[in-house]
Amino acid sequence: MRKKNFSVKSTTRSERVFLKAEENSNKPLRDKCGIFGIYGKGVDVARISFFGLYSLQHRGQEGAGITVTDGKNLKSVKGLGLVSSVFNEEKINSLKGFAAIAHTRYSTTGGNKLCNVQPVVLNMKNEEFALAHNGNIINAMDLAKNLPPDIKLTSTSDTEIMGWVIKNSTGKNWEEKILSSFKKFQGAFSMITLTKNKLIAFRDTYGFRPLVIGKLNDAYIVCSETCALDTVGAKFIREIAPGEIIAIDEKGIQVVGKVKSTKKSFCLFEYVYLARPDSIFNKQLVHQVRQRSGEILAHESPVGADMVVAVPDSGTSAAIGYSKASGIPYGEVLIKNRYIGRTFIQPEQHIREMGVKLKFNPLREIVKGKRIIIVDDSIVRGTTMKKIVKMLKNCGAKKIHIRVCSPPVTDPCYFGIDTPDKKQLIASHMSVKEIKKFIDADSLAYLSLEGLKKASRVKSNRLCTSCFDGKYPMSVKGGFRKDVFETIS
Ligand code: SF4
Repeated sequence: MRKKNFSVKSTTRSERVFLKAEENSNKPLRDKCGIFGIYGKGVDVARISFFGLYSLQHRGQEGAGITVTDGKNLKSVKGLGLVSSVFNEEKINSLKGFAAIAHTRYSTTGGNKLCNVQPVVLNMKNEEFALAHNGNIINAMDLAKNLPPDIKLTSTSDTEIMGWVIKNSTGKNWEEKILSSFKKFQGAFSMITLTKNKLIAFRDTYGFRPLVIGKLNDAYIVCSETCALDTVGAKFIREIAPGEIIAIDEKGIQVVGKVKSTKKSFCLFEYVYLARPDSIFNKQLVHQVRQRSGEILAHESPVGADMVVAVPDSGTSAAIGYSKASGIPYGEVLIKNRYIGRTFIQPEQHIREMGVKLKFNPLREIVKGKRIIIVDDSIVRGTTMKKIVKMLKNCGAKKIHIRVCSPPVTDPCYFGIDTPDKKQLIASHMSVKEIKKFIDADSLAYLSLEGLKKASRVKSNRLCTSCFDGKYPMSVKGGFRKDVFETIS
């Protein structure tokens, strides 16, 4: 069967396998993931990985996996669903070894297949290689085309393609192969890999997605966020630098490669929404960045009201900041059901709409007759906010003012975050005035990009701001994104 852009004649076998798998999945895979790796002899690496993943659950809620090595073989347990539903005592106890990598992922309905749950383990005779990836490679299709014809891809994941590219690159060991393949990958990759006796981690030269190193007694840990280090009782050592390759084995930890980073582009959206507020990147506590963004927004766009409220949880830190700077009391009116996943998990519109009602219950008695400022981290489609405004107006709110602690999201992300296609981003085709009308608020204001950058305290030229200004740090023309619909909120 023909697929646009590829003729049967020009496709390699591996590409056809890839396209077939993609077709079977209905929609291409997408990725927004948490990764965790540990190397430590005499340590229950699977159990620690479980708790590491548990604390990274916010980065992916539709599948999880752990792969361990005992020096002879790699063994994996993977499944669809939350970390706590994929693993039990028996499964954790079955994973014996001295090093492990783990992954929690997020996908669309179509892409939510077991074959795409990571870690990816390459099928090779006498040699095993596993990968856990956070990010997105925009040239994945081109790389797939050039793979040897005998390679059979088993998933729709760019991670598997990366694994085979590494395997087929020059080098006498995995470290050298990773180094020699590095520049073939265009896009975002914070990656932890596992061989029979070694854990190797690396980060793209832009440093889009985070990757940190910690230590737990004699064991070393590499993971997406510092909150996972805190959870397992590990001490933060440092971040893996963009372009850096580190290896951990019986000799300890060492830097085994460095690829020059000419442009840094840490994802500004990690501070806005993606990361947990108790994580630290670039020496900045996420909670404090969000609080400062609320303070700056209060100065940029003041409005009279009786109370400031947050859309929990990602709007909470910013709402506290807005309240502090404006002097308007902070209060809670939206009670979140904490026992369900984020609404953006459900990709179909009717389920999404139900999801808002399931997720937040308003405190009617407190809302009635009040002028309320609602602070949220971002508006992507506007449908969630529209529902919240309606819900609070139905409760008798006198005025609803919306303050958003990020600039309008106008462009899609190609670097591992599942912003929808451009046409589904409300700010790509509506002005602030039109959005205000659409969500039926009494006023609407966004934080300026300058304000957000200032709140991050990271040098402006070291941040990716593409989804707010459309200025991508690399060409994304024809770029591969794992999915193009349904995501943030
Ligand atoms: S485009 Fe947006 S979400 Fe994607 S890496 Fe850049 S700032 Fe982050």
